[in-house]
Amino acid sequence: MGGWNIWFGLINFAILAFFLYKFGKKIVINMIEGNRQKISRELEEAKAAEENARNITQTLEDMDAQNKSQCQEILEQAKERSKRGAERSAQESRALADSRLSEARHDMLSLKQQTMTELRDESTGALLEETTKLLEGDKYAGERSAMPQRFVAQLEQMLELTDSDKAKLRWGDELKAELFSAQTLDESLVEKVKALLENKTGGKFSLEVRVDPELIGGLRLKLEDTVYDGSLQYMIRRVGEELKAGESPSEDIAGYFKDKFAAASNEPGCFQTGIVESLADGICHIVGLSDVMSGEMISFEDGLQGMVMDIEKNRVSAVLLGDYENIHEGAQVRRTGKVMEVPVGEGLIGRVVDGMGHPVDGRGPLLTSETRPVESPAPGIIARKPVSVPLHTGIKAIDALVPIGRGQRELIIGDRKTGKTSIAVDTIINQKGKDVICIYVAIGQKESTVAGIVAKLRELGAMDYSIVISAKASDPAPMLYIAPYTGAAMGEYLMYKGRHVLIVYDDLSHHAVAYRELSLLLHRPPGREAYPGDVFYLHSRLLERAACLNDENGGGSMTALPIVETQAGDISAYIPTNVISITDGQIFLEESLFNSGVRPAINAGLSVSRVGGDAQPKAMKQFASRLRMDLAQYRELESFSQFGSDLDKATRDTLNRGRKLTELLKQKRFDPRTVAEEVVAIFAANEGFMDDLENQQVPEFERRLTAYAYENAPELCAAIDGGKKLNDEQIQQLRQLIENFKGDFRP
Ligand code: ATP
Ligand code: MG
Repeated sequence: MGGWNIWFGLINFAILAFFLYKFGKKIVINMIEGNRQKISRELEEAKAAEENARNITQTLEDMDAQNKSQCQEILEQAKERSKRGAERSAQESRALADSRLSEARHDMLSLKQQTMTELRDESTGALLEETTKLLEGDKYAGERSAMPQRFVAQLEQMLELTDSDKAKLRWGDELKAELFSAQTLDESLVEKVKALLENKTGGKFSLEVRVDPELIGGLRLKLEDTVYDGSLQYMIRRVGEELKAGESPSEDIAGYFKDKFAAASNEPGCFQTGIVESLADGICHIVGLSDVMSGEMISFEDGLQGMVMDIEKNRVSAVLLGDYENIHEGAQVRRTGKVMEVPVGEGLIGRVVDGMGHPVDGRGPLLTSETRPVESPAPGIIARKPVSVPLHTGIKAIDALVPIGRGQRELIIGDRKTGKTSIAVDTIINQKGKDVICIYVAIGQKESTVAGIVAKLRELGAMDYSIVISAKASDPAPMLYIAPYTGAAMGEYLMYKGRHVLIVYDDLSHHAVAYRELSLLLHRPPGREAYPGDVFYLHSRLLERAACLNDENGGGSMTALPIVETQAGDISAYIPTNVISITDGQIFLEESLFNSGVRPAINAGLSVSRVGGDAQPKAMKQFASRLRMDLAQYRELESFSQFGSDLDKATRDTLNRGRKLTELLKQKRFDPRTVAEEVVAIFAANEGFMDDLENQQVPEFERRLTAYAYENAPELCAAIDGGKKLNDEQIQQLRQLIENFKGDFRP
């Protein structure tokens, strides 16, 4: 029994063991498997982590290397930049130092000049006083008494009847002669003079003999208006004038005076004189001066000059060119025999002068000795050639729509404060480095306005090739009248030397007003709007002097930009219509456009350039006509579209294009464009690349596009700047370039 139990127990154990083994194995296997999986997962993770770590290390190393190279690059750039900066600042400071130095030199020069003049005047005065005393004294009594004899002998050679004297004789009148002497004259001398006059006039004369101690010595004969002066008084005055004009006496002063007097007494003065009859408002009426020419300069005793304007039967009217405080009725005037002349030449460049060409910028005397008559005939048709070279203004709207050529006359016309002067000044600024000399004539403007313009021109380096003539509002009317002719004379001189000149007359309305004032004071009959009848001729003879000379005449040119102010946009008033008909086109500025922010406020419909198209750069010409047409369509539709609300797509597109173009043609002051910049921008607008932009994005697009073009297609830009026409291939290249740019353009 016990054995059975043992076996039963064993069997139970065995079964238990079997089951235990069976399930236990599974559990163990499961456990082991789980662990193994876990371990292998962890192993994999560890591997991935290791890989990651390796990657990170690699990245870090890469970054380090990159950083290092970037640092190096930045360092180099910084070095380069600082080098360039240093160079630039060195250049700038050098330029500044140079300008300071030249200013200081100018100041010194003018101070020296002033002191010299003062000293000279003072010492001349003292010298002449002494000389007079000496000559009046007994020491030279013998020589003094010989003078009348000598004078009468010289008179024989000199005495000539003028045309007016001859005319008088022909009318049967007798000529009036007066003989002045310092002391009572010998009868025999008087007889000799009488015989001379008898011979010349055929006996039709009356002679009065007078004693005038102021003569000191010698004689003076006055025959009608002509004076033959052989007096010591005249000789001393003449020496004084020469000394004041800059001649310096030699070491031996006594010898110098002796020589001078000897020369003077060999050649008594002979001049025609007149007497001031009345004088007011810068105009003076003179009796005498019978043979004076129209436009001739006359001189007063204190050195003031005048210009003859009107010649009537019994009197002459002249304008006074300067301060006439010291002149009074009864004063003597002399003919100079010369028409009015002003200094001309390259020495004027960089200077500011008044209406008569006298420097007013405190920079010392003018470095030129040449002069030219203010009025001279315009070059004839044979001497000219057609306008063919552009005068690039740098203003998009003008260069595209109303191009100006060298030698052209283009009027800038508009109301007050519409940006007329700005256009002219911008054009001057854009001539830098283009071998064009600019002359800005300010007529009747405030002194502060002109000073502002000069300061701006100096700041931008434009005075290096410019001359400014300033006849300010406070100057007498004759100065305003003469100023543009002075400018024309200066420009003409350079033109005949083969140079290219741009002259701005700012403005001719003030000029016409000054001329009207003069004419009314001269009692010339008033015509339309009280202007004198020849106000058209006033401007036509001025503007005709602008020309493009042919090669036989040196090939120079003078481009004129006259400015005219209108009242309430009325271009059909008298002066505007006159000047429009004289010039080769006009740029019309409109106040409403200016006020709505379209600046420059050019009215594209009323502005024209009649000859400039031939001179327009070829590439510009290719694309500008399209621009003009699109703008015209836009203007037409714009006025209609204000009433209708739903428009068809074509109309909307035209309006949209027009708005973009208008936006594109806006331009700030002092911000000129090159030809290529203008052409690329206009081409892009024409091709519709700007159609989907917002209006305010256009300037940014234009600025970045033009910079991009210069960077990525320099040859193409150079070709446009050089005035070349673009072929199909180049046009395609330009289109592609703009497409590429547009793809990257993010406002
Ligand atoms: P005036 O009748 O006094 O001679 P004007 O017609 O010559 O005036 P400007 O003096 O040139 O006009 O300009 C008048 C004002 O308009 C100035 O203040 C100037 O700064 C401004 N202006 C002119 N052109 C522009 C421009 N393109 N962009 C912005 N402002 C301008
Ligand atoms: Mg102005």
